[in-house]
Amino acid sequence: MNEIKKLETLLIDKIAAGEVVDRPASVLKELLENSIDANSTEIKIIIKKGGHELIQVIDNGHGISKESLRLAFTRHATSKITNLNDLENITSLGFRGEALPSIASVSRCSLKSSCKNNDGNEIKIEGGEVVSLEPISCSDGSNLKINHLFYNTPARRKFLKKPETEQAKINKITRIYMLSNPDIAFHVISNDKTIYNNQSETLINRIKSIYGSNYKNNLIEVKHEKSPYKLSGFIGNLSLLKKRRDNQYLFLNGRYIQDRLLNSAVFAAYQSIIKRGEYPFFVLNINMPVNLFDINVHPAKMEVRFHNEWHVYHALKTSVSIALKEIIDVIPKFHNNPYDQPTQPIELNELPFANQDNHISQSHDIPPHRINNNAINDIAHNNFNDLINEFPNTTNLESTVDHVWQIHNKYLITEIKSGLIIIDQHVAHERILFEEAKLAIENKGLASQSLLFPQTIKLQPEEYETLTNISHYLEKIGFKFREFGENTIIIEGIPSNLKWGNESNIIKEIIDQYISLKITDNSFIENIAAIYACKSAIKAGEPLKPIERRSLIDGLFATKHPYYCPHGRPIIINLSIEDLDERFERH
Ligand code: ADP
Ligand code: MG
Repeated sequence: MNEIKKLETLLIDKIAAGEVVDRPASVLKELLENSIDANSTEIKIIIKKGGHELIQVIDNGHGISKESLRLAFTRHATSKITNLNDLENITSLGFRGEALPSIASVSRCSLKSSCKNNDGNEIKIEGGEVVSLEPISCSDGSNLKINHLFYNTPARRKFLKKPETEQAKINKITRIYMLSNPDIAFHVISNDKTIYNNQSETLINRIKSIYGSNYKNNLIEVKHEKSPYKLSGFIGNLSLLKKRRDNQYLFLNGRYIQDRLLNSAVFAAYQSIIKRGEYPFFVLNINMPVNLFDINVHPAKMEVRFHNEWHVYHALKTSVSIALKEIIDVIPKFHNNPYDQPTQPIELNELPFANQDNHISQSHDIPPHRINNNAINDIAHNNFNDLINEFPNTTNLESTVDHVWQIHNKYLITEIKSGLIIIDQHVAHERILFEEAKLAIENKGLASQSLLFPQTIKLQPEEYETLTNISHYLEKIGFKFREFGENTIIIEGIPSNLKWGNESNIIKEIIDQYISLKITDNSFIENIAAIYACKSAIKAGEPLKPIERRSLIDGLFATKHPYYCPHGRPIIINLSIEDLDERFERH
């Protein structure tokens, strides 16, 4: 067996680097935390090739003196804490004194820093070894350049993903710090292109700068105090629901944290108004005394140990519930909403499906379709093939579809030879549009209508990047758009079946699909067709003229699969005369 020896400092730094810096985004995280701790009011970030080539952060913070420059790159050297008591009362983002030496040990880096009068110094380090330290003239603040990350650790470099993927992770980190520090101005440049340029502003304006003005109108403020907790920030209403979990930010005293229990507190407050697989937008700050939690759990400092996690859970849930109260309270009023308007006002509790996800029709989605009656539900799943035989072609319908009733502006009812059928108008139309769109994407495309007022859509840089891969498909379903400045597109034409106002949602959802699937195969085409169909179909709550009811039923039976919608939900419920006789005990 070999003798036990103490490891060299450089080797220790490299090992530690594994915990703190595993990719460009985590390097950037550490550098941003240092700039914020230095009380900077302006931070500029320059990235090349997703950080493979360069990660540079320039700030106007308090800078580092010549004497401290060398020390800043030695292990466990920090200006942020000095004793055990400080460790229990941490208010800065950094405190472990290990980021700079770790980063410097696996890269070529230079740091220019000046504390005042542009009178500064520059230190250059390669693989952890100081190459030079010289006085220079530079702006007050710090300018740290990290070149060629992992150039001396090929095994680590191999794990880096391609530049676009690393850039997407960098963007996510950047958004975290831009949102936790709206008062700091950020300018972010990637491959010589500005991707974010935000002045010092309020949180709501920062959210708007990052996500576009559409977000601002859909935010609800959270402001709640329950000693010793103060909760503040913004949550999104149902228009901002996403299929991906990426727009959720929880900050503890200004630090981004990841905590499953606390995340679930936010979800719990949304109660039944969101469905499984839907993720609300939130940017929430929890402020509480530092002695009630411990952040020194992991070197990345994103995990927290609370003295009483359930207290925090309840405070957070309550604060979000209060903010959401307005939405939850208006659910019964949805029937007075222009979008979901019955011909005569109907009280919600009179509806057979009262208290079933009534919000769903509001969120432009599939309406509740299950009638609260197990018997009918069972029948719905029976004998669809027999039913097909009753509609061999549309002409056979003629005698029956003269009487198509629409109930609650949601379901169509008509008599058939063996009894009656109930059709969910939204999913029926969805099925028609789905098959139409699928065929059109594979062939010459759907018709487009020009927008009278072209609309701009702000995207995230990584979303914007995906556009080149999917623009062909967007055009095929009828979108006409062009680039319009920083991560923004202008929509000039939309699918002719789509209602104005839906274009941003549908494009973003298609981008999300692409981001999660990463390929444009058949299932991608089906997904696009399904998204388009769902967003364009007539909604629950829309009154239909008799001729429209008729053509909907004709169209439905002309599809390949009239019985199930693209999401697999039933479109038609069949109620036979025998079923009715049995229920009326007419034996
Ligand atoms: P920590 O942030 O945990 O103290 P780091 O290794 O990240 O450890 O940084 C070491 C020290 O270098 C910090 O404590 C701080 O004094 C100094 N420093 C690093 N970056 C900056 C910066 N951008 N501006 C001013 N001082 C900085
Ligand atoms: Mg630090």
